[in-house]
Amino acid sequence: MKERAMGRRELLRFSAAGAVLATAAGASQGDTPESERAGAETVTTNADVLVVGGGAAGTMAAIQSARAGADTFLVERGTQLGGTTTTGGVAFPGLFDAWGRQIIAGIGWELVRECVELDGGALPDFSKVPEHHWMNQVRVNPFLYALLAEEKCAQAGVRIAYYEFPQSVRETAEGWMVECAGFGTRRRVFCRQIIDCTGGAEVVGLLNLPRLREAETQPGSMLFMLDTPDDPGRPAGALESLYVHGADSTNSRTVTEANLAGRKSILEKVRREKRRLTHLQPEAGFRESFRIDGETLVTVDDYTSGRMFDDAVCYAFYPVDLHTRGGVTPKPLRQGIVPTVPLRALIPKRSRNILVAGRCVSSDRLANSGLRVQASCMAMGQAAGAAAALAARENTTPLNVPLEEIGKTLRMHGAIVPPDNGRG
Ligand SMILES: Cc1cc2nc3c(=O)[nH]c(=O)nc-3n(C[C@H](O)[C@H](O)[C@H](O)COP(=O)(O)OP(=O)(O)OC[C@H]3O[C@@H](n4cnc5c(N)ncnc54)[C@H](O)[C@@H]3O)c2cc1C
Repeated sequence: MKERAMGRRELLRFSAAGAVLATAAGASQGDTPESERAGAETVTTNADVLVVGGGAAGTMAAIQSARAGADTFLVERGTQLGGTTTTGGVAFPGLFDAWGRQIIAGIGWELVRECVELDGGALPDFSKVPEHHWMNQVRVNPFLYALLAEEKCAQAGVRIAYYEFPQSVRETAEGWMVECAGFGTRRRVFCRQIIDCTGGAEVVGLLNLPRLREAETQPGSMLFMLDTPDDPGRPAGALESLYVHGADSTNSRTVTEANLAGRKSILEKVRREKRRLTHLQPEAGFRESFRIDGETLVTVDDYTSGRMFDDAVCYAFYPVDLHTRGGVTPKPLRQGIVPTVPLRALIPKRSRNILVAGRCVSSDRLANSGLRVQASCMAMGQAAGAAAALAARENTTPLNVPLEEIGKTLRMHGAIVPPDNGRG
């Protein structure tokens, strides 16, 4: 995307304070400092594609968008990439395979495979159908995963801003102006396309586009490790989790409440069981909040019948997996069934120039309980990244990008696009 009327160089010339800060602070990644205001510097960022949220979906969306040639900017409110995989501690992404063959590959698989290889681990044999679905989830080292994700973003040319989140979104003649806040930073992002990968469709919410959610959502979980008291200093133990009922990722107040409640119950457990706490994730994992009401809504019938959508951009695979107060009893899919995700489920109804990817995909509750797993989120993210990059290039909206073009771009970057007739 071209620089706006007052470009980077002009702004630096016009703003003495900006020029000083640009040198002193490094004005990283092409940001344009505008002014210094009571502790918050205002910067302007231009991009073709803005990705919000750097979890399973957002990381792949950003890398795909940049690899497809779009100038891509990623805003993540946390400290690192990976979202639930890293910060939530759910470091066992699945499922990349179904019924004896790989159904999700592409950028997510590239990252997971390299992570396992660098860590000296072993990958599952996808030609074998496991006894239980979870056996083919891939265990990744979450620390390494976050580092590799950052490296892949840098190599693709994705610029990243941590500790920031959008506060307002406005339509402009060329796309969007998104105001983001971070500590000491106010940022205006001018972009053509947005991909909302926040988990709870938070940008879609800022735009007042319709979202869906249940009155009572599935519990979240706090992940931790305990060990016996007789071996201090040895960070060991198996990963355990405690449900956090009512955990809600919607805003800072509800996330604070969930974290406080999760940590309190772990402290109680440590005291009760007289064991050592050797590991604790910094944040609870959230299973469910808002989903979008998209151009297509994937129903549980679509999901469990393996409906082949005309505009399918990826596969998904996992049992229907709804957690309640009483626990969870996954309902496996029938032999041979492999659900698909349509492009229209990534597009909020009656919107232009915005996509979502990840667990906020347009779906009913039961379909979402299967669609929300990490490999599917990665595949949706990659598809959204391709659609957004092509839309930015052609100066159109993702719904108008020819599906063949999206498919071609995805295959070029290693993804499996339905119907692939088993060719992979
Ligand atoms: C306890 C638990 C167990 C699970 N078990 C499994 C499993 O075994 N296998 C599996 O594959 N999946 C599992 N899942 C599901 C899966 O981990 C998640 O659904 C998936 O990771 C969601 O990916 P995402 O990219 O949509 O969202 P997330 O991973 O949640 O990423 C969203 C990112 O957006 C950021 N963000 C949010 N709001 C904003 C904002 N306003 N501005 C900027 N950034 C923002 C967040 O910080 C985060 O980094 C589990 C989930 C939980 C909670």
